[in-house]
Formats: sequence, structure tokens, C-alpha cells
Amino acid sequence: MSISELEPAEPEHTSALYSIHGGAAIDRADAERAVADLLRALGQDPSSVHTRDTPRRVAAAYAELLTPRSFNLTTFPNDEGYDELVLARDIPVHSLCQHHLLPFSGVAHVAYLPGERILGLSKLARVVELFARDLQVQERLTKQVADWLQEHLEPKGVGVVIEAEHLCMSLRGVQARGSTTVTSALHGLLRDQPSSRAEFFALAQRRP
Ligand SMILES: [Zn+2]
Repeated sequence: MSISELEPAEPEHTSALYSIHGGAAIDRADAERAVADLLRALGQDPSSVHTRDTPRRVAAAYAELLTPRSFNLTTFPNDEGYDELVLARDIPVHSLCQHHLLPFSGVAHVAYLPGERILGLSKLARVVELFARDLQVQERLTKQVADWLQEHLEPKGVGVVIEAEHLCMSLRGVQARGSTTVTSALHGLLRDQPSSRAEFFALAQRRP
């Protein structure tokens, strides 16, 4: 998977469009045929009045869920020298499990300790989406968000916690309804300095 910079940085902000290319482009017509085949293989009639539009809808839904919106990364100089944790809590996460093609969803708490630059706050949610719209495992998604912020923002530290419920766990198999999986990834001072690490986890896990 590679991140491509589609536009050069503007002089006043470091600003660029980012998108992810996870492999070959999505072939909608091929996906529709495959969904019709799947319906038949499951003993369903893809030509019935109820399902004749299903292949198109399913292909469109997967295409949307697997295509992150590109976004402008807006950063600003940290002129005030802000050196406390910046934390965005409860960012919605919706992704697709790579093993079952079923959704998993929940929230992400994303924090960084600013270095030279700070980030437009809405961008933390866009970074989560950038990696969530892919076939994923939660562990990799968590690490990709943390790695991306470390690489592009070069903060003093990064912390990411994701809490998600996986439909492949709650609807089938062990049917562990309501159970959430928690993953975390840390960089810099949030990993190495016990007080920063403890502060991050305390803020990320605080409940109203
Ligand atoms: Zn799964």
C-alpha cells in the first residue's frame, strides 16, 4: 500500500491531497457479476423482483467502503509552543474485516504531542478514514494511523486507541454480542515516557 502525494505543498501551510492505493482499481461490472454468482451459490434467485438490483447495490456499497476520500492535510506552525497532548476522542471508525468481508465499527481516540507543527483537528478523523476504507484487521488499522501521523506530522509522540465491535464475532462464530476489541499503537514520548503514556490512556479511556 502506498500513499501518493497528488499536489505539491502550498507555501503557507503544508497542504497536500492524500489518497491510498490498495491495489488494482475496483471493477464494478466484475463485482456485480460476482455478487450475482454468490447469490446463486447461496441458493438465492438473483433475478427475482427482490434481488435483481442487489448485485448493483452490493458492488456500489463495497466500492464506497473501500474508497477513502482524499483530503488536504492542513498543518500550522506551532507558534505558541503548545506542548501538551492534543486528543480527538470518539472518532467514528467503520471498516471491513479482511477475513469475513463483514463490517467492524467503533471509535478511535487519536492523540499527538505537538512538535514544530500542529494539525487541523478534523484531519485526525480523515486519517482514520483514510485507512479504515480498506479490507482491514484492527491491529493493522491502528498501527497505520499512528505510523502515518508520526511520518507526516513528526510530532513528539503519537497515540492511537481503537475500540471496535466486529460483526464476524458478534453475529456468527462465538456470537460474542457487545464485546469490543481494543487495540493501541504508540510512538515517541507516548511510548517511551511513562507519565505521557499514562496521561494518554487515562484521557483516551475516560468515560463521561
Ligand atoms: Zn472477521
